[in-house]
Amino acid sequence: MPRLRDPRSPPVVYRTARAGLRLTWAQRRRLVGLLVSAGDVWACVLELNAWRRARQDVPLVSYPALCRELAAAGPGCFGELDSAGARSVLRRYCDAWFGAAARRKNGDNSARFPRRRHRMMPVRWYHGRFELDGRRLRVPLARGCPPLPVRLDRDLPYPADQVRSVTLLYDAGRLWVDVTAEVPVTGYPLGAEPVAGRVAGVDLGIIHPYAVAGPDGQALLVSGRAVRAEHHLHLKDTKVRRRAVARRAPKPGRRGSRRWRQYRRRQRIVEARHWRRVSQAQHEAARTVVGWAVSRRIGTLVAGDPRGVLGIDAGRRHNRRTRDWRVGYLITVLRDKAAQAGIILTLVDERGTSSTCPGCRARVPKPRGRVFCCPRCGQSGHRDLIAAANIAGRVPGGITPAFTAVGVTHRRAGNHLPGVSAARRDPRRRPHHGAARWSPGRHLPALPITVGRGVARLTARTS
Ligand SMILES: [Zn+2]
Repeated sequence: MPRLRDPRSPPVVYRTARAGLRLTWAQRRRLVGLLVSAGDVWACVLELNAWRRARQDVPLVSYPALCRELAAAGPGCFGELDSAGARSVLRRYCDAWFGAAARRKNGDNSARFPRRRHRMMPVRWYHGRFELDGRRLRVPLARGCPPLPVRLDRDLPYPADQVRSVTLLYDAGRLWVDVTAEVPVTGYPLGAEPVAGRVAGVDLGIIHPYAVAGPDGQALLVSGRAVRAEHHLHLKDTKVRRRAVARRAPKPGRRGSRRWRQYRRRQRIVEARHWRRVSQAQHEAARTVVGWAVSRRIGTLVAGDPRGVLGIDAGRRHNRRTRDWRVGYLITVLRDKAAQAGIILTLVDERGTSSTCPGCRARVPKPRGRVFCCPRCGQSGHRDLIAAANIAGRVPGGITPAFTAVGVTHRRAGNHLPGVSAARRDPRRRPHHGAARWSPGRHLPALPITVGRGVARLTARTS
């Protein structure tokens, strides 16, 4: 629920960063206890409303009414969980309930009211309840409980006075803290602020997550080859692991058994790591785009939205490719970072933009390679940049349709991914396979690599 702010105060956006925790076993046990207590609060509300439905009473869903029930239950019902933490679970319940009710009212009958119990629920505390000093976090607890200071495993990207809330949660076998901050929209010195009339088109792709064509023939290509390699390695790894554990994998009937739990836990950890790597790369790519746009004073980004055609079944390989692409997430991170930089992002239909000549508007069959060439007027250029220029032309005031790239900036996403350089060798690969074909070779010490930014070439490990 957003805070009430003075409408004349400078604009802000809300941003969340996730940090891990450095914990002793005792601290971990107590934090898990808090989350389990929050799960109990959730289960109590579900049960309360199940009883009310059984006696044909109206459900109890408003936040104040639920808080009154919590207060009537008295202290000591939910272990060490304090009332602010318990109320955050109630807030989550009524948000979910009213969200589902609104969707059902709009004719979406697949929306369901909350009905499932969870062993653990995330707990959120707002500003004033917790103490955050650098990496030290003092978790609020019920009255009379011994204090619980914990340490975050990294520095937060926000100054302490901007932090508005912390959320304790459990994901993929680990405890995390989500820290939400109120970040002011970037201010610029006079003469450096983005101009809304300067428009750049953004084409979203798989090989190039973002291809941007701006005014004056300026363009940016962000390569996502490292991300695609991470997807390939992950898929291969998953297949190999599945084959390796097939004999001891739990059968469907053993759902819930200890072996099943261990098996699922391992799967979740691996998937979560893959997800973190890919989203980090996508955030870096979006950050590159916004930085590039700010330095060229571009005030409007126009992105082609391809999500209309993604529902079509295109065979298992291509379906996998489009799912790995995560284009919705690419749009979201770009929109978030643009909003923080004071840049407007608009979405347009991208149909036909990669097969239209920007010079003479002729329909050109989609090129197989990366180079677009018009047989009628001879216009040629990078396929994705041509598409980006066409997208930019779809809003009023867009750039001239005829597009010739004068300065193309090349950047790569996913520099942190394992396997992109000898120094960041993929730990999932065996270090050495002798002289076998395709072997990455003996693991070499990190060499002074001459490539400044981006992925190091394979020359470092050819010996
Ligand atoms: Zn043409």
